[in-house]
Order: sequence, then C-alpha cells, then structure tokens
Amino acid sequence: MSFPNLRIALPLLAVLAAACGQEPHDLLIRGGLVHDGGGGDPVSADVAVTGDRISFIGDAAAEGVTATETVDAAGLIVAPGFIDMHAHSQIGEDWAKEALPFLYQGITTVVLGVDGGGSPDVADTLAGWEASGIGVNALTYVGHGAVRRLVLGEENRAPTGEELDRMRALVRKGLEEGAFGLSSGLFYIPGNYATTEEVIELARVAAEYRPAIYDTHDRDLGAAYPSFGYLASIEEAIRIGEESGTKVIFSHFNAQGAANYGRAPEGAALIDEARVRGVTVAGAQHVYTATQSSLRAYTVPRWASAGGREAMLERFDDPDTARVLDEATAEMLAIRGGADRIRFSDPRPHLNGRTLADVAEEWGVPAPEAARRILAEGNASVMNIGLYDPVNTGYLAEQDWMMTCTDGRDIEPGTPVGHPRVYGAFTKKLRDYVLDEERISMAFAIRSMTGLAAEFLELEDRGFLREGLKADLTILDPERIRDRATYDEPHHYSEGTVHVLVNGEFAIRDGAHTGALAGRGLRPGPADTER
Ligand SMILES: [Zn+2]
Repeated sequence: MSFPNLRIALPLLAVLAAACGQEPHDLLIRGGLVHDGGGGDPVSADVAVTGDRISFIGDAAAEGVTATETVDAAGLIVAPGFIDMHAHSQIGEDWAKEALPFLYQGITTVVLGVDGGGSPDVADTLAGWEASGIGVNALTYVGHGAVRRLVLGEENRAPTGEELDRMRALVRKGLEEGAFGLSSGLFYIPGNYATTEEVIELARVAAEYRPAIYDTHDRDLGAAYPSFGYLASIEEAIRIGEESGTKVIFSHFNAQGAANYGRAPEGAALIDEARVRGVTVAGAQHVYTATQSSLRAYTVPRWASAGGREAMLERFDDPDTARVLDEATAEMLAIRGGADRIRFSDPRPHLNGRTLADVAEEWGVPAPEAARRILAEGNASVMNIGLYDPVNTGYLAEQDWMMTCTDGRDIEPGTPVGHPRVYGAFTKKLRDYVLDEERISMAFAIRSMTGLAAEFLELEDRGFLREGLKADLTILDPERIRDRATYDEPHHYSEGTVHVLVNGEFAIRDGAHTGALAGRGLRPGPADTER
C-alpha cells in the first residue's frame, strides 16, 4: 500500500510546524530499526523524546522534526524498555538501587514481590523507592506467603475463619496501596501449607482490583516432593484464577526434572485450553537450565520444616526422625538429578562453587547427612544444575503467551556467588534463541519482553513504542548483544545495550552507566506514575 498524498503532505506539515514555532524535541534517536513491542515487522524510523515521553516516531527530516540533541542509531534496534516479569531485585537496598545488572540487559521495569513474598506494606515499599531513588521502574505484588506468615507463622495447618479474614484484610491493604495483584509460592514454605481453597479466597480479593493478577510459583513445577504432579499443579493455578476471577501468570514456567524432559507441550496445552475457555493465562521464562533456591527448599520435606527453624533442628536431632528425613532427602535429591547437581552459591568459602556431593564426600557422610549439617549452620543458597530441559525451554519460548523474566536476585558487590540469570536472562534469550539458533524472531522475542507484559499488567503508557507513551527505551546492537555471566563467574554485565532510557533519561549511554536514578514506583491503572 502506498500513500501518495502523504508524500506531498509531509513537507507541508513540516513547514506549518516551523511556521507555528514548534519547539525542538529534547532528543532525536535517528535511523534505528524500530520494534514497537507488538511483534510486527520493524520499521526504519527516527524516535524523539521530550521530557519523559516519546514525542515523535517517523521520518524526522521529512517532517522537519528537530531536537536539542541527536544520537545516531543506524544499525541499531530501538525497542521499548524491557519488562522483567519475575525478579528478585534488591532495589530497595542502597547497593542495589541502580539496578545495573538489569539495565545492562535493557530492562527498564522489574516486577517484584513474587513467589508469595511481597509485603502487604506496599505504600511503604513505594515510598522507600521514591526516597532512595531507583534505576529502573519497579512494581510489586502482595504475597500470599508473606500474608500467611504474618498470621500463621510457619504452621502447617488451615487458618481459622478469623485468621482467613485477617489474611484477606492484609491482601486488600496491599492492593489498596498499589500492588498489582496477588503472588504465591506454593512450592515454598509457608505457601505450601495452604489448600487451593485458601488461595482462591485470597485471590478473590485480588480479582476486585485492576489488573487482577494471580502470579504463581506453582506447587510443583515437576520436582516437588512428595509429588503433587506437574500437570496437577498447572491445573490448580488455573482453577485458582478461574474460580476467583483473576488472570493467571506462571512464574518461570517450565517442566522441572529429568522425568519431565520433553513434557513442556503437555503443560502448554493446559494453558492453551484455559485460554480457549476465556481465562487469561500466561507465563514468563528465562532460558537457563539451572534453577536457584535454598538448600532447605531442595532437600527438606515440607513436614520437617513445619513450625519454623527451631522445630526443624529438633527433628534433625532426633535419630528416628532424622533417619526418615534422610530417606526423604535422598528421594528429593534423586528427583533433582543427584547431589552432584546441587551446587552451592553461598558466601561460605567451604561451600561456594562446590556441589553437595563434593562436600559429602569430603566429610565422608551420605549427602542427606551433609545437607542436614549445613542447614544446622544456616540455610544455604544453591543452584540445581540441569533441572530444565533445553528442548522444553525452546518449545515454551515459541508460545505466544510466553513473557520473559530473570528470576534474578542481585549479587552483592564483592560476593563471588549468584546465578548468571540476574545479569543475562534477556540478552541470553536474544543471543541464543534469536540470533544464534534462529528459533524465534527478534520481533517476537522483543514482544515477549515488552508489549505482551505491558498488556498483561495493564500498564497503559509503557511497553510499546508509540507517541505519547513514557520514554522507556532500549537501543541495542544486534551484532554485539549477548550475556557474559556464567555459573562460574556470574558477576558480568551483558554487552550490546548501547543506550537505555528510563522515563526519558539516559541510564546507559554509549554502553556506560550514567548514574541516573530515573526509575519510578509504578501503581496500577491509567497514568500509572502520575498519582
Ligand atoms: Zn520462583
């Protein structure tokens, strides 16, 4: 299709604009390949920014658009800033507020309070971010686990009617104060102690508040003990959304464990069926094969953690209980591929970088006993190497409801531990799946990181490149974009993000951090940042 009239009209408009004394824009990003976040073919265009908004997209020369400052984006991709749908950013801490591992991947918004952990004191959280300044935009859910812990501690029982009312009230408080929905971590303690019905009751509160999201680290991604069932777990989460009236998003959706290698299509089919029924169900992913969590979560059955740490240690000290426990731990380790797949990422030098199998061998004890000894000193951060099947992960990347997340927790400077995903989840997906393996298109991958997420979160002024929206922009070099963090050396920023703008300000310029703290705490609804 061609627009002959436009060709005549455009110079005329430019003249008119100049005649009307049109102000120059603040910034003109010239000649980039523009992906608008919707997944369509990119177009070559100039993008202008004025204040914190996108003020022009088109042919600047033809339309007589001028700017105080111009950057050349020839050969570069210009995209909406990336949205990390499931992060453990420590952005509230002074050392993490700049959010550099995220910015260097092109991420301009992080979704926090995930896995059931979000505090109901959302107003305090938002005020804290505002007071300290933050490098990327951030939003939070209120967490089922956090609320349950406040009311029931780590007790393995159902709440009384009065306790459930208190939990409802805490969820409502979080939503009133600006949470985007309810998150859960039904795999974890104390979320694991909740019945489906309990979560439905709390999700009903979330359903009253836009964008009505239920975000879940569901009960059994495939490696839970005792097994709840990989597919039963997906069905449970969908049921929670369907009966309560929320949308559902599966955090880091995948099929864990060797028994579930190749089974991602079965889980994806359940999501597709629910979508056909009219339930809004989606997922987010990263493309690493290792997970990260705690040694307790991976090796102690939930019954043995009930009542908290002291109660757990008493069980460790009782020889009969310890024997039963060790059998369970051995089974849990087998599901995870063995003790040599459990790798410590922990500041304790005698643990860091080693596997549970190594440590057990050095101590001359079976792996379950070594795990108990370590836990008696304190919980440890571990990765489970090879828990995800690359074939599953690749299949899931192709689903049109699949978003992207880091699941990443910042690594404190000087600490040689952590999972590389916090530094490279987005850039690795682009490098591996788009550029090297050509599994998905650049436009499709960018959509999974931008527009798809913004629509789900109902962020009306972010996630797309359109005039009038907030100027969160990621400008990357497709030749150079890549992750550099590894399991051995996680502490490396990604490469190839040339410029990153957050709310119209350069956070990264020519590949270097500017020191800007231009992020905002986001609240749901239209004009999210203006209230
Ligand atoms: Zn999780």
